[in-house]
Amino acid sequence: MPPTSVSPDAVDAVIVGAGPAGLTAGYLLQKAGRTVLILESDPTYVGGISRTVSYKGYRIDVGGHRFFSKSVEVNRLWDELLPDGFIERDRLSRIYYGGQYYSYPLKPGEALRKLGAREIARCLASYLKARAFPRAAPATFEDWVVNQFGERLYRIFFKTYTEKVWGMDCRSISADWAAQRIKTFSLGKAVAHALLPSLGPASPITTLLRSFKYPRRGPGMLWEECARRIVAGGGSIRMGCRATRFEYSKQAPRWLVEYRDGGGAIRHARGRHLVSSLALKDLVRHASPAMPPAAAAAADRLEYRNFFAAALVVPGPALFDDQWIYVHEPGVKAGRVQNYRSWSPDMAPGPEATCYGLEYFCSATDELWRMSDADALDLARREFKAIFGKDVSAADGCVVRQPRAYPVYSLDYQTSLAAIRSALDENFTHLHLVGRNGMHRYNNQDHSMVTAMFAAANILADRQLFDPWGVNSDAQYHESGHGGRLAPIAVAT
Ligand SMILES: Cc1cc2nc3c(=O)[nH]c(=O)nc-3n(C[C@H](O)[C@H](O)[C@H](O)COP(=O)(O)OP(=O)(O)OC[C@H]3O[C@@H](n4cnc5c(N)ncnc54)[C@H](O)[C@@H]3O)c2cc1C
Repeated sequence: MPPTSVSPDAVDAVIVGAGPAGLTAGYLLQKAGRTVLILESDPTYVGGISRTVSYKGYRIDVGGHRFFSKSVEVNRLWDELLPDGFIERDRLSRIYYGGQYYSYPLKPGEALRKLGAREIARCLASYLKARAFPRAAPATFEDWVVNQFGERLYRIFFKTYTEKVWGMDCRSISADWAAQRIKTFSLGKAVAHALLPSLGPASPITTLLRSFKYPRRGPGMLWEECARRIVAGGGSIRMGCRATRFEYSKQAPRWLVEYRDGGGAIRHARGRHLVSSLALKDLVRHASPAMPPAAAAAADRLEYRNFFAAALVVPGPALFDDQWIYVHEPGVKAGRVQNYRSWSPDMAPGPEATCYGLEYFCSATDELWRMSDADALDLARREFKAIFGKDVSAADGCVVRQPRAYPVYSLDYQTSLAAIRSALDENFTHLHLVGRNGMHRYNNQDHSMVTAMFAAANILADRQLFDPWGVNSDAQYHESGHGGRLAPIAVAT
């Protein structure tokens, strides 16, 4: 039996997770004079999904993080934390499909040449058909995209990649995800605009922006600095500490958070507020008093998608300068290939070798996820050869795993989320759900940060000034009171 601590820490806010959301909340609260304790299950890295992993001097950005936000506050905070740390990068990425590379955003001339006149005519015909006879009440990802771009473009540029990412048929993915993502992630729109000049130029949408900011040594550089300042200011960050139980006492009111430290000992932290960026599913499972059965069942239905990057260090100059290449090819399991040095030269110790990351999307039960690191690297070496024609069988490498990289927007997720939210609202106060898995929302870093900014503002005001659920649901943030000054992020990447 591990020992149990007798003197729990007591702070204004216990924050679970040292990802962008948890660290943003911690930084703002600590700066405003509140005491904070952040629990992070990773023993080494802060930054969560936005961490940067180091391997023999090569830096690996989990997923590749572009820094772009329309929120003034988010940009201000980035600059405050890293005044000299950002570089401006031109975006360079292509699609690999049918043995060909397509510039992304698509270039009309190149697309015509590579797809061929016959395919282009088919795309056009199916696009016109979809516009004339749209699917009624589009509920699924497939319905939504086909209505927007036509069946043919959907099959070429959306279906394969989307199904790799989500591991499910596009007919089982909610149209919400398409609406949230493709409003701006508009590959099909770009094609349609290229094919149909009468539509006019494609709108300058965020995903197609030509440049973005990037911390010179990867996103982890930003979050490490944020963590350093929290600690320097008197806040606590406990690494290797997994929060395991969340007990709320209505009378106090106060939260008692149980956690297991790196040595396996069970410890406790007390806080008036609980800021939670851990997966909503886990919070509901381990909340006390126990959630009503309907909410517990709804939490059990929430699903996630895992992700891993098999990073290969290949001697010699880079084979491509793109930051990443989308692999739409159905015969290859990898969904994207990163060249981390194209994000920033400081991501590699020198030009002698290039570190590529082959990215795989999978579920926790998939063979792909369960395979050993050695097997995953072998798969990556084989697929690298299949894509680029270069033998890398001797390449050294490592595997970086990210469980629960994506909250899944299954067809019933909204119903589950509604049941959970109403049960949490009824049973707890001083609970602040933030971030990506914390809210089961497809939040980028900036969205996650704004939800944390809202939580911090609500804690400081000791009332609900802002509604974090308004972030990233549409182009406007909803304020539930006065005094809100945080700028909205137009629906982004
Ligand atoms: C492939 C990919 C590409 C992406 N690209 C971009 C991009 O280009 N630009 C962008 O802005 N965003 C991007 N994102 C999104 C970005 O990574 C997330 O929005 C952001 O990291 C979410 O921050 P968070 O703090 O909410 O959650 P997380 O980053 O998930 O952090 C949560 C933290 O909580 C910790 N934790 C969980 N449970 C517990 C527990 N029980 N006890 C203690 N600690 C716990 C975790 O270890 C983690 O450190 C991308 C994401 C993916 C998967």
